[in-house]
Amino acid sequence: MRILVADHPLVGHKLTALRDQRTNSPTFRRLVDELVTLLAYEATRDVRITAVEVVTPVAPARGVRLARPRPLVVPVLRAGLGMLDGMCRLLPTAEVGFLGLVRDERTLTPSTYASRLPDSLDGRQVYVLDPMLATGGTLAAVISLLLARGAAQVTAICLLAAPEGIARLETTFADAAAPVSVVTAGVDERLNDVGYIVPGLGDAGDRLYGTVGPG
Ligand code: URA
Repeated sequence: MRILVADHPLVGHKLTALRDQRTNSPTFRRLVDELVTLLAYEATRDVRITAVEVVTPVAPARGVRLARPRPLVVPVLRAGLGMLDGMCRLLPTAEVGFLGLVRDERTLTPSTYASRLPDSLDGRQVYVLDPMLATGGTLAAVISLLLARGAAQVTAICLLAAPEGIARLETTFADAAAPVSVVTAGVDERLNDVGYIVPGLGDAGDRLYGTVGPG
């Protein structure tokens, strides 16, 4: 499994503002949006393209455009929805699917409550949006489901990751049938005893949707 930590001063700047508990929901949403676009730029470095020719006002020019089948973007409900606009700004022609998983707060085990995906993902490059790679349980379940449907490549875009979550994905997908990558703005210290990333940024869904903190 490939893990890429986006090392860019703008990424660091936006991530720091996201972490700050004084950041209110409207600002948090805007920062997530901007940060995802930066991460998406890294995550799509190997998006498939095809050669085309266009005619400029001066002469024919060789160029490229995104290949078929179109990339599929899958936000994981609910917090991944906050990353969708930023991703689609960079990949406006992508198809969008949805997956909803809920985590049992006691056992931390995820189960699927909503799924809206093409039946077959044969040959598809899939970009999963999930802000927090914590235990890795949710993301492991999502990626396994996508690979089982035939995805040719799965790239997870996460705002933050914990070492425990990365280790879990590395173990789970060591022999995966297709390449699996994680692109993140940072890898934090650890998880606490209720599965939150430390220092992290708190509950990403709550902060996106104004359930806690300064409105
Ligand atoms: N989910 C969150 O929103 N935050 C964490 O720190 C861990 C999981």
